[in-house]
Amino acid sequence: MDRRLKVRFAPSPTGFLHIGSARTALFNWIFAKKYNAEFILRIEDTDRGRSKEEYLNEILDSLQWLGINWDKIYHQSQRLEIYKDYANKLVESKKAFVEDGAIIFRYELDSISFDDLIRGYIEFKELPKDTEVIIKSDGTPTYNFACCVDDVLLGITHVIRGEDHIPNTPKQLLMYRALNFTPPYFAHLPMILSSEGGKLSKRFGATSIREYRDAGYLPEAIVNYLLLLGWAPGKNREIVSMEEAVRLFELKNVNKTGAAFSLDKLDWVNSEYIKKLASEEFFKYAKEFLERQNFLPLGVEEEYVKKVILLFQNRISKLSDLKEWTYSCFFDNYTYSQDTQEILVKELSKEISFLITKLDKISSFDKITVEKEFRATAQELGLKAGDLVHPVRVALTGRRIGPGLFEVMEVLGKERVIKRLLRLLNFWQQTKAI
Ligand code: GLU
Repeated sequence: MDRRLKVRFAPSPTGFLHIGSARTALFNWIFAKKYNAEFILRIEDTDRGRSKEEYLNEILDSLQWLGINWDKIYHQSQRLEIYKDYANKLVESKKAFVEDGAIIFRYELDSISFDDLIRGYIEFKELPKDTEVIIKSDGTPTYNFACCVDDVLLGITHVIRGEDHIPNTPKQLLMYRALNFTPPYFAHLPMILSSEGGKLSKRFGATSIREYRDAGYLPEAIVNYLLLLGWAPGKNREIVSMEEAVRLFELKNVNKTGAAFSLDKLDWVNSEYIKKLASEEFFKYAKEFLERQNFLPLGVEEEYVKKVILLFQNRISKLSDLKEWTYSCFFDNYTYSQDTQEILVKELSKEISFLITKLDKISSFDKITVEKEFRATAQELGLKAGDLVHPVRVALTGRRIGPGLFEVMEVLGKERVIKRLLRLLNFWQQTKAI
């Protein structure tokens, strides 16, 4: 009987979960779902100085938020005796020696090779040195040794991790050999590069998952985007559900070349997921988000908040964009943005005053009635509707672009609309006075 496959994600809690490690976790998770493998979370927390509880909590939180769940969790800090035992076995068999309280592995300087499931045959002709500390004098193991012992003891069959670990693999293989262990399969994922082609830096998206969450990205969209970093569902498709990804995913189809991170692409994927949400769901997400940010004015009516938020569902790429878009719907002290000047230089005080009297008479201020009245007024004035639409939009929202004007007017309601049109008249009055 085939034994169950096992994978692991092995973060060090020395920092927050960022895009690169989240992608590694995700590819392991997809593999586990596809082959019904066990998914182990192994916390590599033997570096007492740098490991922090705060980071660990954030990593667990972010994984859960992304929907990446695990079957079992191990903490290396609770397994120190195990590593020492195995290190002592190497000392007994003269493959390691003790110096100043540390245990040092001495390797045979052989050429060594392995078949990477993504990259194919990889051979190392020579290694830079012939010894490696495996247990430090404070009793804690070094990464390569703990990793190798654990991968075997936990029964890991497939090690899926970033390409930056390729240089560690020969050392680990020599340790497996010395301990008479059978090594797992290895699959090294391509590096994530910045859009400029260099290393992913803080400026180019190497931010933590938490920061993306705080900026209002949806977990489903992040997961979809992470999948595209090194893998493609085929047929030029970019939006793919997890269920489909599980069905289509193959390690051998992961790219060998680096994957370029693009914030624009992530924004686009996120906007697609936002558009797909049912309005109720979008409203729930958006409201929670704006409330968490203390953005909404005190005492504002829920119905109004809902109408405003729904105006922008198809216009934003992330929830935080809502703050800028909806500001003028919630607060009166918005300003006219720079790019509206060429609209505002055309003074139409008389026409707008006339429009105000017409709008004031409407008893049901819904978008259909408003539009009818608006167009009739423009005609009466001998103007094209567009001549009025642009300044009115600026008056109502402070911006030159936005959702359909008549929808905006319906949401704002008659009173606000008139107040804001009067404000525009006042603005023209004042600019004239200067
Ligand atoms: N703790 C290591 C890291 O975060 C794990 C490497 C591995 O997967 O072997 O990079």
